[in-house]
Amino acid sequence: MTYVVTEACIACKYTDCVSVCPVSCFHEGENFLVINPDECIDCCACEPECPTQAICADSDIPDNQAHCLEINAVFSGAKDPSEADTTGWSPHLVEAIKSADFEVWPKIEEQKDALDGADEAAKREGKAGELSPKPFKG
Ligand code: SF4
Ligand code: SF4
Repeated sequence: MTYVVTEACIACKYTDCVSVCPVSCFHEGENFLVINPDECIDCCACEPECPTQAICADSDIPDNQAHCLEINAVFSGAKDPSEADTTGWSPHLVEAIKSADFEVWPKIEEQKDALDGADEAAKREGKAGELSPKPFKG
């Protein structure tokens, strides 16, 4: 089992989740976080911390977020892009992982300020097209 970050996190990135993870398995993109499923120890600590309820166990993931399992695996580096099942992904993400420019996202181990506009973004649905495939570059 693993925990998974779903699309409610897009454009928010409050990072409350990061501060409680005992094994530092979060990775950071420009406007989204993912969990490495090979490193997650299923402790559940992060789930209640997320202000947008973006995190859930893989066994509880809603059908319309099931594709996030593979997004978390690929962008955290747990799965090679060539082996990804991209069913349900936005086309721009499929393109991105096929690109020679694709990069696994770096780990994030400490909480930081949320993105500008996070509170407004937290109220929006249908954010899948906004998910940036780029790694966070400090
Ligand atoms: S706590 Fe913040 S960064 Fe973590 S998953 Fe939730 S919205 Fe994303
Ligand atoms: S369930 Fe635990 S180990 Fe897995 S990402 Fe959340 S805090 Fe980290």
